[in-house]
Amino acid sequence: MAENTALLQVINLRKYFPIVSGMFSRQAGAVRAVDGISFDIKRGETLGMVGESGCGKSTAGRAILHLHKPTGGQVIFEGRDLTAMSGEELRLLRPKMQMIFQDPYATLNPRHSVKKIVGEPLIIHGLMKKGSGELNDRVAELLELVGMDPAYMRRFPHEFSGGQRQRIGIARALSLNPDFIVCDEPISALDVSIQAQVVNLMQDLQEQLGVAYLFIAHDLSMVKHISHRIVVMYLGKVMELAERNTLFDDPLHPYTQSLNSAVPTPNPKVERARQRFILEGDPPSPANPPSGCVFHTRCPLAVAACMTDEPEFREIHPGHFVACHLADEKGGSKIEVVSTR
Ligand code: SF4
Repeated sequence: MAENTALLQVINLRKYFPIVSGMFSRQAGAVRAVDGISFDIKRGETLGMVGESGCGKSTAGRAILHLHKPTGGQVIFEGRDLTAMSGEELRLLRPKMQMIFQDPYATLNPRHSVKKIVGEPLIIHGLMKKGSGELNDRVAELLELVGMDPAYMRRFPHEFSGGQRQRIGIARALSLNPDFIVCDEPISALDVSIQAQVVNLMQDLQEQLGVAYLFIAHDLSMVKHISHRIVVMYLGKVMELAERNTLFDDPLHPYTQSLNSAVPTPNPKVERARQRFILEGDPPSPANPPSGCVFHTRCPLAVAACMTDEPEFREIHPGHFVACHLADEKGGSKIEVVSTR
């Protein structure tokens, strides 16, 4: 259950990657992977983060954890500004903030046993000794926590299915009792039949342990069940942020409306009537983002001001933030003409 106090505040966070060219490696611009995003995450909350491939969501997750050093802005965790911390201070805080990766096939060292993979963070941070009974007990406890037989600790990653490998990754992330985990597309590489099991496991763990998640995914259907609130990103910026149900029932940003129209519903009658709004073209390059509203090159509602003036990210209803000139209390940015599938 999410509490009201902010565990983490992200304030105008930016991460630019320099583009270097020529013989002398001169900087010839920058890729604005994350370009001024702001939101907070409460204790025990899941904030879903969605957007197309390349919109900067994974970079945002890494910049929040300082795995990529931010170009600007602030990350406040439990009242402390990470951007002002030394490397050593960050290292000491690392156990509190962990990450689960997208590809369980690629992120677990194939030469390491499950015991080594899950127990390694405890050894690295000096909390338990290699070969100790205490470490053995903790690894067994963590495997049970993620629904695996502790006897598996002597096995190796290739002996497991994708879902089981992701459980091992989750056990490793939980080993240091974190308060916050960035989950970078943790179910995208799994079979659809396994995705729900992993999401359910993560929800159960959150209830037991009170951990908060930033749950990154490329479409809304993947974050629908686990998120308390959802933030929608496009070209390095936040387009909309709202409670989960509000975002699905009353999306105000045209981009969110497009993503939402792609989410299938379980009701066959509703599903048959569902009209899908498909965006034209590809997202522009973050190395050369459009002026004004970054979405204007694909937005069916764009007006002249959208090409020159960047919309303010503002609170339209309590807790519902949108970056669109046309959004208002009555939902003025609704796409009325839809194209069908
Ligand atoms: Fe579309 Fe303009 Fe709103 Fe951007 S500001 S989403 S271009 S209507």
